[in-house]
Amino acid sequence: ASDLARAERLIGEVKDYPAPGILFRDIMPLLADGPALRTTVDALIEPFLGKFDVIAGLEARGFLLASAAAYASGVGLFPIRKAGKLPRPAASVGYELEYGVAEVEAHNDVPQGSRVLLIDDVLATGGTLIAARQLLRELGYEVAGIAVLFEIDGLGGRSALEDPHLHTVFRS
Ligand code: IMP
Repeated sequence: ASDLARAERLIGEVKDYPAPGILFRDIMPLLADGPALRTTVDALIEPFLGKFDVIAGLEARGFLLASAAAYASGVGLFPIRKAGKLPRPAASVGYELEYGVAEVEAHNDVPQGSRVLLIDDVLATGGTLIAARQLLRELGYEVAGIAVLFEIDGLGGRSALEDPHLHTVFRS
């Protein structure tokens, strides 16, 4: 637990990024530290061990965590991408941003019925993870859990997601 406390102190706060009034949580210093990265990835997947067949990560910072988590648990990696980047026809789910709309996309490269652990770096309003979860379900997968490194309280993400299998390592 003291290792996790040390990892948490490596998460930075950047005021007024990417827009005035927003406090951006910067996980890069944590990723840059070997023991912190390992402890955090272990804590991210710990509640779900033995309960998933593949790990999905959200572009772009979610990829970094999902890749380490997939390697650590010996399962495959399933990248969920932002719109327009995949080479083959892809399933897609749209969602609203504060300004404008966005889409998440994926191929169906793992077998139907696979149990997927969905990973991202930060939970804010929950819009991104809601869309990603919907995408996985539309592709015929079972979402075994949602694991997030940092949960921002007060933006409503947890209640918007309403997911019994949501696990967050750190929160503000
Ligand atoms: P949401 O859809 O509002 O929950 O926002 C979550 C998405 O935006 C995640 O994919 C994050 O990578 C990104 N995000 C939102 N706030 C932050 C932040 O403070 N730091 C890093 N990423 C953030």
